[in-house]
Amino acid sequence: MQPSGKEGHRGYVLIVGCGRLGANLANSLYDGGGSVVVIDKNPDAFRKLSPSFGGISVIGDATDMNALREAEIERAQTVIAVTNRDNTNVMVAQLAKEMFHTRQVIARLYDPECEDAYREFGIETICPAVLSATEIDGILGARGTGERSE
Ligand code: AMP
Repeated sequence: MQPSGKEGHRGYVLIVGCGRLGANLANSLYDGGGSVVVIDKNPDAFRKLSPSFGGISVIGDATDMNALREAEIERAQTVIAVTNRDNTNVMVAQLAKEMFHTRQVIARLYDPECEDAYREFGIETICPAVLSATEIDGILGARGTGERSE
């Protein structure tokens, strides 16, 4: 299987989970010239991909090694695990790192308490709750509304 799109500086990117975040990422990485494969266990999820998306979509459960092999995880330079389950994202991220020696591995984690532990394994994590809190802090700071009035 050869995904269309150039293997630019990011190489072959595998996105696990084609939800709101995964589909957006897939669309923008493909539009930026990337070679993108996206896997989801729910075939309806691929409807979120833009009509111009020319990467590959694989229907499969990311906890199943055969599905990951079908998506050619071994060729990926980057694996981005963004299903809605922390356990799945962590499992896929660890597999990518330890078994397939993927260069860059990023996992979304809803539970901020696990972030530090996974960073130690070389897995980059993004946590929506932490990112949102930082953004909101920034907005409040810019407006000068974040200080306690005594
Ligand atoms: P969202 O919460 O909108 O970012 O969507 C998360 C996506 O992850 C959904 O499309 C789910 O079908 C998908 N998903 C959840 N678990 C798995 C799994 N084990 N394998 C593949 N896709 C999954």
